[in-house]
Amino acid sequence: MIKYIKKRICSMIIMLTRTFFGTNGIRGIVNEMLTPEFVTQMGVALGTYFMGGKIFIGCDSRTSGSLFVKAASAGLISTGCNVYDVEYAATPAIQYAIKHFKMDGAVIISASHNPPEYNVIKVVGNDGVEVSREEEVKIEKIFFDKKFNRKKWNELGKTIRFPQILDVYKEAIKNHIDVDAIRKRRFKVVIDPANSVGALSTPQLLHELGCEVITINAQLDGNFPGRLPEPKPETLGDLAKTVKAIGADLGIAHDGDADRCFFVDERGNICQGDKSGGIIVDYILQRNPNQIVVTPISSSRMIEDIVKSRGGTLIWTAVGSTTVSKKIQEVNAIIGLEGNGGIFYAPHQPVRDGALSATLMIEILAKSKKTLSQLIEKLPKYFIIKKRIECTNENKQIILKKILKETEKYNRITIDGVKIFFEEGSVLIRPSGTEAIYRVFTEAKDEEKAKEFAKWGISLVKKNL
Ligand code: MG
Repeated sequence: MIKYIKKRICSMIIMLTRTFFGTNGIRGIVNEMLTPEFVTQMGVALGTYFMGGKIFIGCDSRTSGSLFVKAASAGLISTGCNVYDVEYAATPAIQYAIKHFKMDGAVIISASHNPPEYNVIKVVGNDGVEVSREEEVKIEKIFFDKKFNRKKWNELGKTIRFPQILDVYKEAIKNHIDVDAIRKRRFKVVIDPANSVGALSTPQLLHELGCEVITINAQLDGNFPGRLPEPKPETLGDLAKTVKAIGADLGIAHDGDADRCFFVDERGNICQGDKSGGIIVDYILQRNPNQIVVTPISSSRMIEDIVKSRGGTLIWTAVGSTTVSKKIQEVNAIIGLEGNGGIFYAPHQPVRDGALSATLMIEILAKSKKTLSQLIEKLPKYFIIKKRIECTNENKQIILKKILKETEKYNRITIDGVKIFFEEGSVLIRPSGTEAIYRVFTEAKDEEKAKEFAKWGISLVKKNL
């Protein structure tokens, strides 16, 4: 009964707000919000939006993947689109292939890091980047107004099987790294692709680069029997143990669509995304000084220190990978990063790419002749405190308004919540985009100061609840 009421409330909210798209695509639980009927009709709306072009479609290993590929394809074909089915593939492989094969866009069925019962419809433009909010509004308008451009029987599109993108993708990555330097070192690497599509590209790529590759959780299985698809310390215990037990140089973990990458050092310690991102950004700026780096305000000030020390410019954005990608394109940045293990290397493509991140890190190990733990040791040190405070979704904006008023006198950025900069560190206060909570994220070079900042940040939210 409760489930039914929740479902009804959810569909009422959607009808009232006429909004389907969240931070990354249209997200929902399989056969609740995301039914085959809904996905087919959304396919018709997307086909109308794409005006009958050449569209890639593909999915990750989820049990609902092929169901929704078929449903979305039916809708797209009914509007005259030719659908090129890449089957199972990493999201960045499909994104790269869009430009390479001159497609008009892609529909990717992948819930990335979400639990197995979820799936997501992602819409990607002809530049390989997910479409902007303005474009999503156009798609939603077509859907709700039912202004579909259905074709006659003799004008329908068709499905073309297109499994050859992975070779193109692997070769593209090799063009951006020092293949010889990596081959000489013959690294021993353990890869954990979370029983999903990263298993189809990263192990083969590293094998071709002369690495000794050991995999765990590498069979495609939408029940995710090895671990949940979100890479984080709680899910990477087996990878960490394996790296240590067999004396590997590095552990690599992807999320469900392999656009993110987490690393484990040679001692079996899990490296946080901010730290691996910091190492990669430092390396790129060392070779390309004075370039622009883009990162969301949720990233550590450590990134700012690194960028400044290399004479580069850091641009903060709101949280969200599409926002980072769009900013990279707008300001012609060389690289972007997120604290969740997302690396956007623009000379390859301005979107997160897990296999590219993995190979860049291996190139750094090869050229620096240092271990990952030694590279982490050299990074600027910050004490970081992350807290969450429950609040109702309805109150989020009212609370934010009050906090913005109270923090007017500080050096701050207000693009997504508020990030206040102090000489000794920073305080980020922002409402979560997906949960009924406020996040308070503080950091400082001194532990006591970080605690003091956290206390202040929490009090600012609590007194305005
Ligand atoms: Mg992902």
